[in-house]
Amino acid sequence: MSDRGHVFIVSGPSGSGKSTVLGVVFKNRPDIYFSVSATTRSPRPGETDGVEYMFITEDKFNEMVEKDLFLEHARYAKCSYGTPREPVEERLRAGTDVIMDIEVQGARQVKERMPEAISVFIAPPSLDELERRLRGRSTESEDKIKLRLETAKKELLEAESYDHVVVNDDYMRAAGELLDIINNA
Ligand code: 5GP
Repeated sequence: MSDRGHVFIVSGPSGSGKSTVLGVVFKNRPDIYFSVSATTRSPRPGETDGVEYMFITEDKFNEMVEKDLFLEHARYAKCSYGTPREPVEERLRAGTDVIMDIEVQGARQVKERMPEAISVFIAPPSLDELERRLRGRSTESEDKIKLRLETAKKELLEAESYDHVVVNDDYMRAAGELLDIINNA
């Protein structure tokens, strides 16, 4: 057995409440490294460069792709997202567990490269509830909400390819279920 850390891939459509669930997980397990992705989307109010994401330009993103600096990368809702490889590798070598909050195409790429990674899909209780949450957030324009809703419908079809599906009917309950998966790995 190696002492490498475990990789947890956590996916879930925009509005699934994944960030809230992950917030509870990190409170309970502050030792886990949260992989900070690079993205070309603009920061939302309250987001800080280097904390939620590294906010970079398309040019810089493409440069990082060419230099093979990403473990995985994908287009999502007309923006690019990628997981910088080295910070993840460094933590895993040191025996630290890593959580990646990434969408389904990226999850597939990580599973191919790291078959031992444990994948968890956070699902909303229903599509109606998902739409209600997306609108309630009201940080996005109607076009963007529609695009995210369409993307979410496609993503839900992928749930069964994950090792675990956690339904976020209640965020504390869902966080408890995710913590059990992590603590038992
Ligand atoms: P948001 O723009 O709402 O923060 O994220 C949109 C989607 O991009 C979410 O499903 C999130 O999990 C995903 N995402 C965030 N970072 C990455 C990444 O590095 N790679 C991939 N493939 N998806 C990401």
